[in-house]
Amino acid sequence: MFTVSQDQKSGVRPRVVIIGGGFGGLSLATALKKAPVDVLMIDKHNYHTFQPLLYQVAIGSIAADSIAFPIRRIFMKYENFSFNMAEVEKINPETNTLSTNIGEIHYDYLVIATGSNTNFFGNKEIEHFAMPMKNIPEALNIRSLVLQNLETALVTTDMREKFALMTYVIVGGGPTGVELSGALAEMRHLILEKDYHGLSKYDLRIYLVEGKDRVLAAMSENASAKAKQALTKGDVTIYNNAHVQSYDGFYLTIDNGKTIKTRNVLWAAGVKGEMPGGVPADAIIKGNRLQVDEINRVKGFDNIFAIGDVAAMIRPETPNGHPGVAPAAIQQGAQLARNLVHLIKGEPTAPFKYHDKGSLATIGRNHAVADLGKIHLSGFVGWLLWGLVHLMSLAGFTNKGIVFFSWAINYFNKNADNRLIVRHYNTETGSSELEPK
Ligand SMILES: Cc1cc2nc3c(=O)[nH]c(=O)nc-3n(C[C@H](O)[C@H](O)[C@H](O)COP(=O)(O)OP(=O)(O)OC[C@H]3O[C@@H](n4cnc5c(N)ncnc54)[C@H](O)[C@@H]3O)c2cc1C
Repeated sequence: MFTVSQDQKSGVRPRVVIIGGGFGGLSLATALKKAPVDVLMIDKHNYHTFQPLLYQVAIGSIAADSIAFPIRRIFMKYENFSFNMAEVEKINPETNTLSTNIGEIHYDYLVIATGSNTNFFGNKEIEHFAMPMKNIPEALNIRSLVLQNLETALVTTDMREKFALMTYVIVGGGPTGVELSGALAEMRHLILEKDYHGLSKYDLRIYLVEGKDRVLAAMSENASAKAKQALTKGDVTIYNNAHVQSYDGFYLTIDNGKTIKTRNVLWAAGVKGEMPGGVPADAIIKGNRLQVDEINRVKGFDNIFAIGDVAAMIRPETPNGHPGVAPAAIQQGAQLARNLVHLIKGEPTAPFKYHDKGSLATIGRNHAVADLGKIHLSGFVGWLLWGLVHLMSLAGFTNKGIVFFSWAINYFNKNADNRLIVRHYNTETGSSELEPK
């Protein structure tokens, strides 16, 4: 068998293979720094993505590179760590190996930290035409589409087409949908007429479609009400208790009887667990997640674990598993590191307990909502807290600096400097191309 990871430091200690360098994978590898194991991390990207700021890349507020950080760089001083950029295609539990696009990889302990992907709930047509936003290439696709459509709107003589090019529908009123809607509303008010002479902000429409009876349904009613108020003030039309039925690239139909002609449908309506093949079906539950026990061990296995968005720890106190947020993945990673060491030493393990530190969402300039236990913040104070928390959580000092200065410049200039079409988005193929020569 060909075993990849040429720079593995030792062959005698148990090998912990982590699939995924997201929030969970990074936290686990960090906590294993001094553990008596060799850690091999595998990710299809050679960088970690800070997903909470993807929407700012999508609307051109900050540069894509500023929310990514090279995984090798994070762990360069770790004696027991190595990394391979590879896509894991299949897990082979019977041989303790992984089939990847760079060869077969052996593990003693496997941790699946592959996160989640956009859920289109089986609707292939919507999947083809709507724009997801789970990673940097997808955020850049949205950026290109939005800017290309504004360029076309400026020159088209077909008024119906112009209407569709300047109509945005965001599907899903969770934090991502709310943040995207707020950012687009800000662009409409502050930038559109300044940058595109000939386009009127009154021609630009933003709709937010949410299946539940309020936006930010996972947050407090106070946060939902404040978010709705701020979005409505920004001229975002909100449809609650509404579900998208179809979208063919031109017309979007909703089960509230509305049909919207639009060229911009941004999909933030759901996620499902992302995982390689090879996991037995009885370990996979609702939402395509892996059922794990109280120490994140995948059902039916002794040496395979799952953390973060892909894991579902179903217990009386968490009947739907933990929320798909970064702190849950980070805390599971740290706890699993301790438990792996206990398992290797033959010591008792400790069950995972989630500490919910609160939730935040921003609705654009000077507006954010925060639920911190019994404390609810909103408006400017909430917005400052949101900025601080996100800045502190970003990987890398340089990234923190770049994002901080981008925010400061955008704030005072009331503009956004990264609204660039550097890769053309092709709506027919649903993929991006380099600029034509
Ligand atoms: C737009 C957006 C905004 C968000 N905002 C917030 C927020 O404000 N606050 C918050 O707490 N959470 C937020 N989240 C959720 C948060 O980002 C996730 O809960 C968190 O990233 C989950 O961490 P993870 O380690 O499970 O997976 P991820 O961070 O998604 O990492 C998974 C990694 O696995 C890799 N991978 C996947 N499959 C394979 C494979 N087969 N082979 C190799 N590598 C693979 C991927 O490349 C990726 O690097 C947001 C998510 C999105 C998409």
